[in-house]
Amino acid sequence: MNNKDFNNYIEINLKLAYDFYQELNLFYFENKLPTCQLELSTRLTRTAGKIWPKSRLMRLSLPYHQHYGSQELRNTILHEMIHLWLFEQKLPSGHTNRFRQKSEEVGLGERINALPIPPRPYKYIYACPTCCYEIRTRRKINSSCGRCDKIYNPRHKFKLVRHLEGEGAA
Ligand SMILES: [Zn+2]
Ligand SMILES: [Zn+2]
Repeated sequence: MNNKDFNNYIEINLKLAYDFYQELNLFYFENKLPTCQLELSTRLTRTAGKIWPKSRLMRLSLPYHQHYGSQELRNTILHEMIHLWLFEQKLPSGHTNRFRQKSEEVGLGERINALPIPPRPYKYIYACPTCCYEIRTRRKINSSCGRCDKIYNPRHKFKLVRHLEGEGAA
């Protein structure tokens, strides 16, 4: 994805997220939840979403939802909205029994945790100049091929053969 496509992608999905929020607020919360600022974040990678109820800010993981799609985006927003809903009623806003009960009511079932977090995409492909063994990495490396020599040997130092940026790397 080039920059323009990427910005476009963010814009479309942010609009979708706001639409979900409105629709879900009407459907499950009697439209009583306050307006909330939604963000799609490339940096939020360890969880699907996060909410700061006091600041009325909801952050949604971009890589996670790129991986799982719109249905899961809706699920994450709904999950975070339950936290906000509890907070607005001045109830403890963690994954309490009341949280779980509401979660069942709105059709999210018993699932509290995100689906398995997709691995961060690889950025580089290196190859050993001697045996051509290829490895994929997320950062730059300075090591040599362990198949050709058990200790570091500059003769078999991995060479960068491809930079994967723009091919799904975030
Ligand atoms: Zn939660
Ligand atoms: Zn090698």
